[in-house]
Amino acid sequence: MFDLGIEGGTLFTPAGAIKANLYILHEKIAAIAGERLASQRTLNADGAYIFPGAIDAHVHSRDPGLTHKETFAHSTQAAAAGGVTTILEMPNSIPPVIDAASFQDRLSHLMPQARVDFGLWGMLTAQTEAAQVAALAQLGVVGFKLFWGYALDKTTLALVYSASDPQAVIPPPSNGQVLELGQWVARTGRVLAMHAEDAAIITHRSGQSTPALSAYARLLYERPSVSEALAIEMGIRLAHESRCPLHIVHMACQEGVDIVQQARQRGIDVTAETCPQYLTLTASDAERAGTLGKVYPPIRSERHRQALLKGLLTNAVSLVASDHAPHSRDEKSQPMAKAPAGVAGVQTLLPLLFDVALRGELPIASIPLWLAERPAERFGIAHRKGRVAIGLDADVVVLDPAGHTVIEPASLYSLNPDNPWQGKTLRGRVVWTVLRGRVIAQNGRPRDQAGGQFVPHCQGPQDTVHETRG
Ligand SMILES: [Zn+2]
Repeated sequence: MFDLGIEGGTLFTPAGAIKANLYILHEKIAAIAGERLASQRTLNADGAYIFPGAIDAHVHSRDPGLTHKETFAHSTQAAAAGGVTTILEMPNSIPPVIDAASFQDRLSHLMPQARVDFGLWGMLTAQTEAAQVAALAQLGVVGFKLFWGYALDKTTLALVYSASDPQAVIPPPSNGQVLELGQWVARTGRVLAMHAEDAAIITHRSGQSTPALSAYARLLYERPSVSEALAIEMGIRLAHESRCPLHIVHMACQEGVDIVQQARQRGIDVTAETCPQYLTLTASDAERAGTLGKVYPPIRSERHRQALLKGLLTNAVSLVASDHAPHSRDEKSQPMAKAPAGVAGVQTLLPLLFDVALRGELPIASIPLWLAERPAERFGIAHRKGRVAIGLDADVVVLDPAGHTVIEPASLYSLNPDNPWQGKTLRGRVVWTVLRGRVIAQNGRPRDQAGGQFVPHCQGPQDTVHETRG
């Protein structure tokens, strides 16, 4: 007798879409069958699509430190409501995850709040030491994030977007340090994830006056695609020299797609992610959305949007993540130049991508690849997550392609859910989100109940105990 059956739907498995029933036992996918089998409980998924639960590889839950923006309880409820069953949490909380002690503190802080499963990123700074990287790997971080070009506040280690007092900050690592950090990460078998925008271009242009430009055009001027392209190019060279797998986060420009594509063709171990904001919006949409459309890198023209869509089809862009980064309404109410960058996006990640696919801009069958299979593989959790396959964690999302989703604050669960898609009606609807066999959200409403687990990288912590040191 199985614990749960999901019957009558179309399963999106790595081998293709098949009409079959799915059965779950002891939190794992236990059977995929054409016939109906006995189970304690069943969900009727007639006409629905069953995807692996989405894995959002790029989430800033702000917790601890900036809990007026977001908390882990809120971000993980939002995740559950939107069909995300695992989030990979970025390390720039206050304090950030930079060593074993801060990792342990953050893990015990987040665990009781977790509504979905989660992995943790470690953070690299100009002061990181080799032993800290090794220790974080041993504890199971999914990878290491380098906020390339950003200085850090000396007291809080928070990212400093424009340093006015050089004495108050730790400067960003030099290229020499990045090479060395890459070597340390390479030894751990993890991925180095890079924010790729050239700080020198941004600093120079931010100091110029451009009275003729609108506030949004000014943002694009300060952060042009060439700053992304340069940083991506240089990041690839440095990481390759260090023999370190590289992941470019939130890629937003055509040049990036071309550079990553060429590097991959040369056999370089680099992947890139993009985000729904770059796939569904253009600069004019972002400008209309005001500061809610302000993200780094900025949302650019239709040419870039088309290149990113195409990049997904050729695997120049390997995955889609939200870069969920909410701010309070007060913070976002400031003028464009002052308002912080970032959108709330974990809940709308899958619904937006599903809508794009239902509108014919991307193939539906590839969504599980971009939102589950590839992130699981790249960040070392594919032994448990990322596919509808027997033996894996029973994390699935049941979607109704005939339904609709209205994006409105009342149905969003982030602490500060304002976003540039507000008021839109999307095709398709998340019906059930199932985490290890348990329904954690139904019809967009999360069950308010913790129970998420920490998911370590497959090489840690359990396996590293047996590692021999050479
Ligand atoms: Zn981010």
